[in-house]
Amino acid sequence: MEKLYFIVGSQDLYGEECLKQVAADAAAMTEFLNGKLSDTIRIELLPTVETSDICFQDMKKVMDDDECVGVMTWMHTFSPAKMWIKGLQILRKPLLHLHTQANEKLPYAAIDMDFMNLNQSAHGDREYGYILARLGIAHEVAAGYYQHEDVIAKIRQFAQVAKAIHFSHNTLVATFGNNMRDVAVTDGNRLEAEIQYGWQIKYWGIGEIAKLAEEASEAEVDAKMDEYTSKYTMATDNVDSVRLQARYEVAFDKFIAQNHVTAFTDNFQDLFGLRQLPGIAAQNLMAKGIGFGPEGDYKISAFSAVLMKMAEGRQGATGFIEDYTYDLTPGQELELASHMLEVPASFAVNKPEIQVHPLGIGGKEDPARLVFDGVTGDAIQVTLVDMGDHFRIVCADIELVKQPETMPKLPVARIMFRHKPDFAIGTAAWCYAGGAHHSVVSTALTRRDIALFAKLTGTELITIGDDTTEADLDRI
Ligand code: MN
Repeated sequence: MEKLYFIVGSQDLYGEECLKQVAADAAAMTEFLNGKLSDTIRIELLPTVETSDICFQDMKKVMDDDECVGVMTWMHTFSPAKMWIKGLQILRKPLLHLHTQANEKLPYAAIDMDFMNLNQSAHGDREYGYILARLGIAHEVAAGYYQHEDVIAKIRQFAQVAKAIHFSHNTLVATFGNNMRDVAVTDGNRLEAEIQYGWQIKYWGIGEIAKLAEEASEAEVDAKMDEYTSKYTMATDNVDSVRLQARYEVAFDKFIAQNHVTAFTDNFQDLFGLRQLPGIAAQNLMAKGIGFGPEGDYKISAFSAVLMKMAEGRQGATGFIEDYTYDLTPGQELELASHMLEVPASFAVNKPEIQVHPLGIGGKEDPARLVFDGVTGDAIQVTLVDMGDHFRIVCADIELVKQPETMPKLPVARIMFRHKPDFAIGTAAWCYAGGAHHSVVSTALTRRDIALFAKLTGTELITIGDDTTEADLDRI
């Protein structure tokens, strides 16, 4: 499991007895937090920072350890912050400043100068906060007693975001074909995406999948069909079409394993050698955490994989959607989000049906796809766009709702939602912000998770929600 290193600050002025107590308290805190967070992260304590050299050695360990996704720091005593400069200058992993104490309550009757010298994070953490601000190091502060549930929740949230950032730097997007020919928002600077988020975006011809699909054995296709029929209801007589999708997924599985791919894109304008656009194949892969972007959208493909990683271990669904059409009944406005095919099965509120229908565009054979209604509840809609000289994340609070009436003639996944604070402001804000029509919807993640990701990756963030006003629209 991934780990956070915990580094506690002090100095060698206080004498051996005090430093022993610092180390003992730090060890007890580490043990306590490991007991609370073992489902998410492992915490390992490094030597107390008493000198600049120890700090540097600790940070070297943080940087050298591939299992380490970030670091948590706390000043038990005063710890002169010049000692931290050299170490912090080599730190390039997410940083949590835990502003806490070994003791919850102040021992009014017993407190003396020794106690105060030992327990002075109010003093030491401010000195440390100054040097972080002075060095311009992006970080999160969690303030409060470390045994309190709200503080533990903040450490867990930081760990999940740090794991997602670590994952981001190991993301490989296979783009099969290029972007859809004329679409703007799916394009951008791949090199900058790799520099800022670590996304390797590599091109392969879709012929690679066509070849692997051709080579797939009947037994491999049978095994994939067994997976489909165990998870989904077969609602078509056109089993050959479904078997072709199963064959494509076998091919993707092999390609993903051989090339250590974590996300992929395809493009219905570039399906040379494939008779159908991958439908169920993409939907089923997304439900397993593989990122996906249609129309060559490598950004949403990588971002969806990163956000699925962030949501790991939480209840709820996270995945790609495309904005499609509205119900504009006054006061009851709703959006229908879907895609031609590729909405992940993780959003299904009912057992998805496998259906086969024409695509309408692209001139290929009728593809098999999963048809279902979406889950309901509070969610976020989040996207990432390339503004030319920087990336921007747009994050909107939304409410997923049940569709008011059935849509028997619409054979795709159907996700419906309500905008916040209302339709007019919520959707206008998204348009002003340049938010893409491809996004990730999540009932597992919150705006705060995204804000933390944006802060720790140095990304501009525009949020939309109940606190957005009409006046804000002129300031986006
Ligand atoms: Mn699209």
